[in-house]
Amino acid sequence: MLPLDAKARWSPEWQEPTLLKVAGLREFAAGEFPLKRMLLDLRTPETAGAASLLDLPWAGVLVGADGPPPVGHREVALLGDPATVRPGDVVELRPGSSKIAVRYRRGDNGNVLFATERCNSFCLMCSQPPREIDDGWRVEQLCDLAGLIDKDEPSIAISGGEPTLLGAGLERVIRRCAEMLPDTHIHVLSNGRRFEDQAYANTFTDAHPSLTWGVPLYGDHHRLHDYIVQSPGAFAQTVRGLYALHAAGQRVEVRVVLTKPVAERLPELARYLYRNLPFVEHVALMGTEPIGFAKAHREALWIDPVDLAPALLEAAQFLDRRGMAVSLYNLPLCTLPADLWPFARRSISDWKQHYLPACEGCALKDRCGGFFGWITPEWTSRAIAPVTAKDDFSCARH
Ligand code: SF4
Repeated sequence: MLPLDAKARWSPEWQEPTLLKVAGLREFAAGEFPLKRMLLDLRTPETAGAASLLDLPWAGVLVGADGPPPVGHREVALLGDPATVRPGDVVELRPGSSKIAVRYRRGDNGNVLFATERCNSFCLMCSQPPREIDDGWRVEQLCDLAGLIDKDEPSIAISGGEPTLLGAGLERVIRRCAEMLPDTHIHVLSNGRRFEDQAYANTFTDAHPSLTWGVPLYGDHHRLHDYIVQSPGAFAQTVRGLYALHAAGQRVEVRVVLTKPVAERLPELARYLYRNLPFVEHVALMGTEPIGFAKAHREALWIDPVDLAPALLEAAQFLDRRGMAVSLYNLPLCTLPADLWPFARRSISDWKQHYLPACEGCALKDRCGGFFGWITPEWTSRAIAPVTAKDDFSCARH
C-alpha cells in the first residue's frame, strides 16, 4: 500500500494551491505539458546529471530530503517515502500543509477525480462520510487536473460525495475530460437521484466519447433501498434516474454493495434488474469496504462472504445466463465457490490493496484482489486460507 501523500517542504513562493506534473526525461521529451506546470524530478542520475535542463523555465524541482536546491528554481523537498511521488504523477502543494498530496498516480488502477464531500444520501456503509461544506472550488481544480493527466490513461473515476451536486459543474468537468482526455474512459459514481430530472440527464448527452455511470441499487423494493441509503424516496428517484440516463443515451452500470440486508434479497434484486432495467451494461456485486460509516454499523451490515455465497451464485448465474455482464469486487477468492471465480475482479485500488499473512504461498494470489489495507479481524472471513494448486479449480472447501 503506497500512501497518497508524504511529508514535504517547499519554497514559500507557492502561495496558492498548486497542481504540478512531476517530470523526468520522458515527460520532458514528450513535450505534452507546459514546462511552467512541471516539477523536474532531480532524484534520478539522468536528470540530476543533465545540467542544461536547469536552464529551462520549470515550475520547480523535486529533490530528496538531503538534496541541495539548485540556484534559481523553486524547490520541493520530499521528506517521506521517496516512492510516494514518481515521474508522471500530479501532485498538489497546499499552503499551510506539511504534506504533498498525489492527485494522480501514473499506472494506478484507481485514480479518482474527487468531486465533492457533499451528498444527498447517508448510506449505512458510506466509506466517505459526507460533509455539508461549500467545495464548489473543486470544479476549477478538477478541470486543471484533467489537463495534467497522462493522455494515454486508460480510465479515471469521478466520485465523491455525490458528484451531481456540482450541478452544471459536473458537466464542465466531464467536457474538460473530453477535451484533454478523449481516449480515457470516464466512470462517474453517482447515486443517480438527481437524474430524475430528465433535463439534467440530457446535459450529459455526447459529453464524452467514453462515459459510464455507476449507480447503486440496493434492493428490488423501496423499503430496503431507502433504508440502506437512509433517505426516504431515494429508490423511486434512482430508478427514475436510471431510465432518464438511458433515455439520454448514457451507459449505465448498477453497483450493489453486499451488506447483510441486501444479501438476503440478492436473487430478487437480480430478477428485478433483468426484468426492469435490461439496458444496464454491467452489474458489479461488491464486498463492503470496512471504513467510514460501515465501522459504526458493523452489526447490521456484516455478512461473511462464505454465508453470502449461495445467494451470490444464484444472482450471478441468473444474470450471466441472460446475457447481463456481472463482476464481483472486493471478495477474496478463497471465500467463494470456484464457480464464482471467473466473475471475480482485482478491484481494489493499488494504493489500498493488501494481503494477509495467510495469503503467503497461496496459488491464487496473482488472481485474487486481496483486502482493503484497513481490514481488521472482525471484517475477515472465517474461510481465509491459502489455496493450494490441488484446490485450484476444484475448491475443496465449498
Ligand atoms: S488466501 Fe489466497 S485466495 Fe484467500 S485472500 Fe489470500 S490470496 Fe486471496
